Amino acid sequence: MAAWALGNHLRAPVQTVLSLVYPPRCLGCGGLVESDFGLCAGCWAETPFVGGTVCDSCGAPVPGETDGGRIECDDCLRRPRPWSDGRAALIYDGRARHLVMALKHGDRADIARPAADWMVRAAGPALLAGDPLVVPIPLHWRRMMKRRYNQAALLAQAVAKAAALDWCPDLLQRPRHTLSLDHRSATERFATLEDAIRPHPRRGARAQGRIVLIVDDVMTSGATFAAATQAVRAAGAADVRVLALARVTKTP
Ligand SMILES: [Zn+2]
Ligand SMILES: [Zn+2]
Repeated sequence: MAAWALGNHLRAPVQTVLSLVYPPRCLGCGGLVESDFGLCAGCWAETPFVGGTVCDSCGAPVPGETDGGRIECDDCLRRPRPWSDGRAALIYDGRARHLVMALKHGDRADIARPAADWMVRAAGPALLAGDPLVVPIPLHWRRMMKRRYNQAALLAQAVAKAAALDWCPDLLQRPRHTLSLDHRSATERFATLEDAIRPHPRRGARAQGRIVLIVDDVMTSGATFAAATQAVRAAGAADVRVLALARVTKTP
């Protein structure tokens, strides 16, 4: 069994048994809720879901109404994206930040399932049409050892399940260890991540001629998605789309 799956695999049956004994808890605050995998009304209100008109390239909300044509935010106009379409379920702020951090560092794999439902809703037909192959952003093995699972792989698996799509957990590899990108400028992020992601020598062929949907937990500058897009294009993907749980925006 792949290392990323360990926690998830063990947790599923245990959780089913536990829910018979313990009532369902809110994913955000741990308060009692009606059903599993939900948020209480307070946390729901504090979680900024993306709504209204969004940028077709990165999923960030943009002011105004859509006239049916393609819409792009200032970021994407300034830095054209190598993928075709992108979406995000949440704005990386408020309670959404807590959920992302808990999934990433807090051993809260249970967040992946409801998060995937929100992501599939945000993806819509624009990202899900054409039977895309779902692929997570890879972690370098050293970071994987530290965290024990890849949160992007948990999300990719849950998105694939929720949308009834194929997925490949290790289509991409991260052979080079890159330092944390927190507090780096967009230009530094793009420079650091150039050539940092590659197709797996044996799995890469699965992308040949396919539409590929790359999944990650957070999109900040888009540098990681750009590096992954280059890698799946090199592997022969016909089209590339990107889907994040949360999008960092300058004006939430
Ligand atoms: Zn709550
Ligand atoms: Zn955009």
